[in-house]
Amino acid sequence: MPPHDHGGRLARAGEAVGRAGLDALVVAPSADLVYLAGYDPPPLERLTCLVVRPKAQPVLVVPALERPLAEDAGAGELAELVSWGETEDPYELVRGIVGNGAERLGCSDRMWAAHLLRLQRAMTDIRFDPASEVMGRLRAIKDTQEVDLLKRAARYADEALARLLQTRLETRTERDVADALTELLMEMGNDHVMFTIVGAGPNGASPHHEPTGREIHFGDPVVMDFGGRTDGYCSDITRTVAVGRARGELTRVHEIVREAQEEAFQAVRPGVPAQEVDRAARRVIEREGFGQLFMHRTGHGIGLEEHEFPYIVEGNEEPLRPGMCFSIEPGIYLPGEFGVRIEDIVTVTGTGAQRLNHAPRDLEVVR
Ligand code: ZN
Ligand code: ZN
Ligand code: ZN
Repeated sequence: MPPHDHGGRLARAGEAVGRAGLDALVVAPSADLVYLAGYDPPPLERLTCLVVRPKAQPVLVVPALERPLAEDAGAGELAELVSWGETEDPYELVRGIVGNGAERLGCSDRMWAAHLLRLQRAMTDIRFDPASEVMGRLRAIKDTQEVDLLKRAARYADEALARLLQTRLETRTERDVADALTELLMEMGNDHVMFTIVGAGPNGASPHHEPTGREIHFGDPVVMDFGGRTDGYCSDITRTVAVGRARGELTRVHEIVREAQEEAFQAVRPGVPAQEVDRAARRVIEREGFGQLFMHRTGHGIGLEEHEFPYIVEGNEEPLRPGMCFSIEPGIYLPGEFGVRIEDIVTVTGTGAQRLNHAPRDLEVVR
């Protein structure tokens, strides 16, 4: 896999900073920094930040003791490295780089408050905005190499699920199944498991349920939502299966969710506002009378982070563009009974959309 085009990304970020009317972007250790400079130091109490300005060379501010780390990561070839000693004030240093005439700064969403508050104290006359207004948009559109990595991540997730479903779920606990998924995701080649949600029976009605010691019984619907990461890029898939047999109501609700997921997928093409995809899914679920029980947005972007731009939600009028990658994950949650969610990652192509996940979406009855 060739290295990502960090130079190009930094150049585009610089232009976007100017277009957004910002004087600079201050990027702390986070996926934003990985995206721009391929540098992934731990976020710590000592300030590390990349300062990106329009028409100027980027500057990476690092604590002196981490200068070798930054150099080893090749950051010195992309940005000017400026290190600060233990007794120096790095916030004043950043103020000097940004310059006296500056009025507006973008700060990365994941900068620690401890740093942001001190930056604000060092620059009382400057307005601070979230960097996601610039970075979210840049990162939302993936190049072919990124789409390939997301495809690989999705394939690992599909395969982990297929292998899990060859084993027996009945009598195992949610936690056992979550552990098995973790193991399978790692065996597939992921370098990290992001999360594993396993919700059996009524637990499936809680969309972000944490796996417990509850045993899976004959007749239980089981919601499984999990993701790993390979070479920095994430997967995220959800399937709901029936153990032993599928009750009538489960079959009906599952079919509605499947149709909602399909309708939303069919709505994806360049130029369509993101909210239209949410509406397409919601229309099906509302028509069947379950609108109140679909209480979350239809999807989220995915890339270096599990949740990123674009968000597929009412109110997001941002038009979809080729290269955007996001989840489509409608669900219906019946409190005290069960839940159903079906989630695939999709990518916007030149004319429509492509699914990255290929696990069967029909209700599977498993052992
Ligand atoms: Zn979620
Ligand atoms: Zn998910
Ligand atoms: Zn998701």
